[in-house]
Amino acid sequence: MFEVQNQPPPLEPYNLFSTDAVLREAVRREGARWAEPGLTALGATLGEPETIRLGFDANRYMPQLRTLDRYGHRLDEVEFHPAWHELLAIALKAGLHSSPWAEPKSGAHVARAAGTFMLGQIESGVYCPVAMTYGSVPTLRQAPAIAKEWLPRIFSRDYDRSFRPAHLKASALVGMGMTENQGGSDLRTNTTKAEPSGDGTFRLHGHKWFMSAPMCDAFLVLAQSPKGLSCFLMPRWTPDGERNAVQILRLKDKLGNRSNASSEVEFHGAYAQLVGEEGRGIPTIIEMGNYTRLDCCIGSSALMRQAVAQAVHHARYRTAFQKKLIDQPLMTNVLADLAVESEAATALTMRLARAYDDNDETAQVIRRVVTPAAKFWICKRTPFVTYEAMEVLGGSGYIEESIMPRLYREAPVNSIWEGSGNIMCLDVLRAIERTPNAVDVIRRELGDGKDTRLKGFVDRLNKQFVARDRNDESQARVLVRELVLALQAALLIGHAPPAVADAFCASRLDGGSAFGLLPRGIDLRAIADRAAPAN
Ligand SMILES: Cc1cc2nc3c(=O)[nH]c(=O)nc-3n(C[C@H](O)[C@H](O)[C@H](O)COP(=O)(O)OP(=O)(O)OC[C@H]3O[C@@H](n4cnc5c(N)ncnc54)[C@H](O)[C@@H]3O)c2cc1C
Repeated sequence: MFEVQNQPPPLEPYNLFSTDAVLREAVRREGARWAEPGLTALGATLGEPETIRLGFDANRYMPQLRTLDRYGHRLDEVEFHPAWHELLAIALKAGLHSSPWAEPKSGAHVARAAGTFMLGQIESGVYCPVAMTYGSVPTLRQAPAIAKEWLPRIFSRDYDRSFRPAHLKASALVGMGMTENQGGSDLRTNTTKAEPSGDGTFRLHGHKWFMSAPMCDAFLVLAQSPKGLSCFLMPRWTPDGERNAVQILRLKDKLGNRSNASSEVEFHGAYAQLVGEEGRGIPTIIEMGNYTRLDCCIGSSALMRQAVAQAVHHARYRTAFQKKLIDQPLMTNVLADLAVESEAATALTMRLARAYDDNDETAQVIRRVVTPAAKFWICKRTPFVTYEAMEVLGGSGYIEESIMPRLYREAPVNSIWEGSGNIMCLDVLRAIERTPNAVDVIRRELGDGKDTRLKGFVDRLNKQFVARDRNDESQARVLVRELVLALQAALLIGHAPPAVADAFCASRLDGGSAFGLLPRGIDLRAIADRAAPAN
């Protein structure tokens, strides 16, 4: 039998909070110092070998759809491995699904962001219902009677895995159904119909092409009612205690996010209640979208952090050519570059989270403009980081037992869902146009602009802000990338060690990669047509 040599120990147990200087500093800076004891405890729980194992199990034993019982009665249930439930129980116990609403206080969204940032490093699938439930609260509050009934359940920290009417349960989770087969970005094309029942409630008929976490207790759903596209709360059980008419057709066979079930569903007269004003479904549900977009930033930053933590850990133990990998100059460069990207993402995400705690003009602009901008750029960078970090582990990084393949498969999803990259960039253009004082507030956020490392870049960005062709959609990704890079540089210059800020400015302000950044004045369409497989 060969002797095992030169292998690092597993990164466990470890405390995801106390070992993460960038996160700890951000929590203090953004106003959630009071949360440190709770975050330290959660960081320890998540870093236990048993919890890490739950993440692996939840992804290995994937959810199973049960459409019918043995006699042919409809079930429309999804069975999850016990690990999924245990992870959700940890998340709810920590209040990650609702604590800023249940116990509002200064820094509550920041504290919750830090907690979900750690959860997302251990398992991203459970993050989906946690994020949707968190995001659902401001939308549900637009229907006071519904909020009165549902919020106490949503605020409960006792996870209840049973599938029964919500009023019999200790707690409730909320999902959402917007995307239909014919269109997900352009929600106005939704065809699902909502017929008034005559008693103030509605019956939904139609389908949803994506409806994740279908074992949530209720869903915010868009459907066409007599006055136009409207938002509804559709519970899995009717008030009479019957299964609601929601048929789960199949579960998506997804690239990643495999512990989580994402379903295709049909509604056959499903009971639903109106939320918000009839005919104003998109503005009503978009409230939720802001929070879930923040969570995409948190989730993607989490993937980067976990990838970098694993890579640096490995390189500190593994020797090649008589040196630890971390001491090989070229590897040191790779690791530092990865760490800089991760730190920039974490710093911006936590700054963004604070904008959800504050309510002044700055916070409003940051929420409205920077949420889609950060979602675009941070999510775009994540696949690059997870892939490069995987390579640090060499062949072992390609093997499932390291967490790296799971991180890599997970990496693209936050960019696609809740508004794909282009939709986010177009939203930034709209937000700058429509939000009062947006440009001034962002300029202030960038500081006095005097730092020599940032000055030229900010001058250029300022020119773009006022340019007459600012709304040229073909260039939206360029503007958004530069906006985010400037914000990240300003944060790192202000708060990170000089080496980190220097590295970021020296390497990122001359460009950063994603596709869709080609300049004006090129026949882009001709190039795209040339690549078409058939004319
Ligand atoms: C794992 C997973 C889970 C999901 N869970 C849910 C869920 O729970 N509930 C739910 O409602 N949805 C869910 N979705 C669906 C997701 O939100 C949509 O897939 C997404 O919004 C994009 O919609 P689409 O797939 O219809 O793509 P399309 O709308 O067809 O867009 C395709 C591409 O075209 C781009 N595009 C669209 N319009 C423009 C334009 N004007 N200019 C330039 N580019 C444009 C988009 O950016 C995108 O890249 C989930 C998706 C995934 C992958």
